[in-house]
Amino acid sequence: MSAKWRMVLWFTLMMLLLAAVTLTFVLVMNGSVIADPASRLVKTVADCADAVEFDHGVFEWDEMKEYTRGVYCTYYDAEGTYLRGAVPFAEPLELPLQTGSVRPVTAGGKDWLVYDSHVDMSITGFWVRGVISADAAAGPGRVILPLAWSLLPVLLLLSVGGGWLIARDSFLPLERITEAAGSISDGDDLSARLDLRRGPREMRRLAHTFDGMFARLETSFLSKKQFTADASHELRTPVAVILAECDRAKRKAETREDFLASIGVIEQQGSKMNELIEQLLSLTRIQQGTEKYPLRVCDLSGFVDACCDEFVPADERGVTLATDIAPGIRAAYNPSLLSRVMFNLLQNAYKYGAENGRILVSLFRENGCAVISVKDDGPGIPKAEQEKIWQRFYRCDSARAEGGTGLGLSLVREIALVHHARAEVVSEPGQGSDFRFVLPPVDPAQ
Ligand code: ADP
Repeated sequence: MSAKWRMVLWFTLMMLLLAAVTLTFVLVMNGSVIADPASRLVKTVADCADAVEFDHGVFEWDEMKEYTRGVYCTYYDAEGTYLRGAVPFAEPLELPLQTGSVRPVTAGGKDWLVYDSHVDMSITGFWVRGVISADAAAGPGRVILPLAWSLLPVLLLLSVGGGWLIARDSFLPLERITEAAGSISDGDDLSARLDLRRGPREMRRLAHTFDGMFARLETSFLSKKQFTADASHELRTPVAVILAECDRAKRKAETREDFLASIGVIEQQGSKMNELIEQLLSLTRIQQGTEKYPLRVCDLSGFVDACCDEFVPADERGVTLATDIAPGIRAAYNPSLLSRVMFNLLQNAYKYGAENGRILVSLFRENGCAVISVKDDGPGIPKAEQEKIWQRFYRCDSARAEGGTGLGLSLVREIALVHHARAEVVSEPGQGSDFRFVLPPVDPAQ
C-alpha cells in the first residue's frame, strides 16, 4: 500500500476512534447531567433507591444521597412517613406518593417535576421521591446528541478528504521526481528539471537537490559528448591528410623522391595522431583514476633541474634555456606526472616563445608553496583567452599554425588536481607568458 493511502487510512481510523469515543461520552452523559430533566429525574430516583439497604430490620443510609445531578431526594417509609432527605422549598409538598409518572407541581413560585418510586423489600418497603426544577436543566442532551450525530460524519468526511488532499499534494512532487529521474535514466531528456515552486518545504528542498544533481549530470554528459566530438574532429584532419596523400602518391608519384615526400607527410600526420592519442589516454587515465599515481615527498630542485637538462626541443628556433633553481626545495609529487608537466610547459615555451628568445625556468618558495615557473618572451596571451587555454582542444587563433593538440595545458590542469596544486598563467600581450605550477607546502613530519 502506498504511503499516501496509509496516511489516509490512519486519519480515517483515528477520526472514527475519536467519533466513537465522543459519542460514547455523549451517550453516557445523557443518562446523567445532559439529559432532559424528566429522564434525569427518573434515572436519579432509581439510582437513589438502589443505594438504600435494609439489614436486620434497620435501614442503612450510608450510600444515600439527598441531592445529586440537580435532583432533591426524600425518603419515606412504607406508610408514607417522612424518614429523611431534602426538598428545595420551605413548606411540605401536598402531593400523595404515587408511582408510574413524572408529575408537574408548582411550589414556592416555581415549577417542579416530581417522581416517586416505591421499593419493595419483602418484609417492608419504602418510597423515594425526587424533585427537580422543571427549567433547571434545559436538556442539553437533546441538542448535543442530534448535533453530534449530524456533525461527526461531516467532520469525519472533512478530515479524511482534507487528509487525502494534503497527502496527495505532498506526494505529488515525489511522483514528478520519479518521472524526471526515469526519463533521465532512460536517456530521453537530460534537460528535465522539477523546478518545484509550490508544495511542502521538505519536498521543495528535495526537488531543489535533485535539480542540482540533474544539472551536474547534464553538464557531465554534455562535456563527455563534446569531448568525443572534439576528439573525433581532431583525429579526422590527420586521417584525411593521410588518405589524400596516399591517393596523391598512387596517382601522381613517379620517382622515389615523390614517394619519400608522401611518406614524410604521412609520417608527420601519423605522429600527430600518435601524440593526440597519447595525450587523450593520459587525460582519461588521470581523470578516471584507472592508474594510481602515488605522491612522494622528495627533492624537487634536482628533479626540475634534470627535466630542463633532459628536454630536447622539437624545433630550437635559436631559443636559449636558463634556470634559476633554489636548492633543497622538497615537495610531494609524482615524478612521472610532473615530468609530463615540465615537458608540456617547456614545449609550449619553445613553440610559442620569441624566435632567438630566452626561456627562464625557476623554482622558488612562496608562502610555503613550491612554485615552478616557466617564463618565455613570446607574444603573450590575451586576458580573454587566459582561462580558455586550459580547456581541452582549445587553441588560440595565433597558435593554429604551430601544430599541436590543444590538450597539453588541460593535462597540466588535471595533473595539478592530482597534486592538490594550482596551474596558472601570468601574461600580458607582447610581454611573454609565465606559466606557474604551485605545489602545496609539505607537512614537516614527512
Ligand atoms: P597546444 O600547444 O597543443 O595547442 P596547449 O593546451 O598546450 O595546446 O595550449 C593551448 C593554447 O594555449 C595554445 O594553442 C596556445 O595558443 C596557448 N599557449 C600555450 N602556451 C603558450 C605560451 N607559452 N605562449 C603563448 N601562448 C601559449
